[in-house]
Amino acid sequence: MKIIDGKKISSDMRLEIKTQVEKIKQARGKTPGLATILVGQNSASQVYIKSKIKACQDAGIKSFHHNFDEKVSKEDIISLINELNKNSEVDGILLQLPLPNNEFDKDCINAISPLKDVDGLHPFNAGLLNLSKSWNEIIKKNILVSCTPLGVIYLLNKSNIPIEGKTAIVIGRSNLVGKPLSMLLLANNSTVIMAHSKTKNLKKLCINADIVVAAIGKPKFVTKDFIKEGTTVIDVGINRTFDGLCGDVDLESVRDMDINITPVPGGVGPMTITMLLENTLKAFKNRSNI
Ligand code: NAP
Repeated sequence: MKIIDGKKISSDMRLEIKTQVEKIKQARGKTPGLATILVGQNSASQVYIKSKIKACQDAGIKSFHHNFDEKVSKEDIISLINELNKNSEVDGILLQLPLPNNEFDKDCINAISPLKDVDGLHPFNAGLLNLSKSWNEIIKKNILVSCTPLGVIYLLNKSNIPIEGKTAIVIGRSNLVGKPLSMLLLANNSTVIMAHSKTKNLKKLCINADIVVAAIGKPKFVTKDFIKEGTTVIDVGINRTFDGLCGDVDLESVRDMDINITPVPGGVGPMTITMLLENTLKAFKNRSNI
């Protein structure tokens, strides 16, 4: 088993981002800025937001944080988003999801200007991703793509794991992870199977794949019976269990196999925040016509 070290890849990329931010400051006297919005007191969301703000500070990106009580109305959240859309110091807007009332999610996401949508969840950006023909096009046009899937592609690229011509299966079809990741793998010329809870013969499909992505949210769901030797396994899952944090892959069961695998923690997770910084920088460049 060869570990794909998300922590190391992520910290190298954060250094590169920091250098770019410094160069922008020197050349233009401007600093990219990210606004974060947290609604309520969900402890996991508080931890995520704290890490995002700290990562911005470390990279030299300005951060503007807004906290709402969980009883806030949808109109008040949208009114803040409208203000941030107009604020020239803000390049990216991150609304921490899920909102306590998840019926607000869609309208609030849609209120974010597509130019500042650093989570890549606005229909405009999701549409651009779906319409793009290649990874080069996605990079060249600075398309804002959902952070976790984007991080997965960088993990594969930076680990020199080929995608083109490979068969990839993505288990999970959420708008946040599974769907955009399938589109990114397709843009990188792999043949993609999108699997979900109604998929039949999942093990059979997985065992024939060269890349298996687990984005399910079920602890240790994927075992060695799903995987052939030589496969790359990307574990997106973050599950809090009585025994601590674990992924969607049963790491112990695949330990003796000749595979590449992302651990949990320390695999995909650190890349998600790094991609948020990357997307903030992209949004700054798009807005400044760089
Ligand atoms: P989600 O919206 O709950 O989606 C889960 C997906 O898994 C659904 O598409 C569901 O299929 C599918 N699924 C559920 N049971 C299945 C089964 N038995 N067989 C096959 N597919 C099954 O979750 P998400 O937001 O995509 O997140 C997935 C996991 O990634 C979670 O553990 C989450 O915490 C983690 N995550 C990690 C990061 C990170 O930074 N590392 C970021 C985001 C999410 P249906 O569509 O048919 O219901």
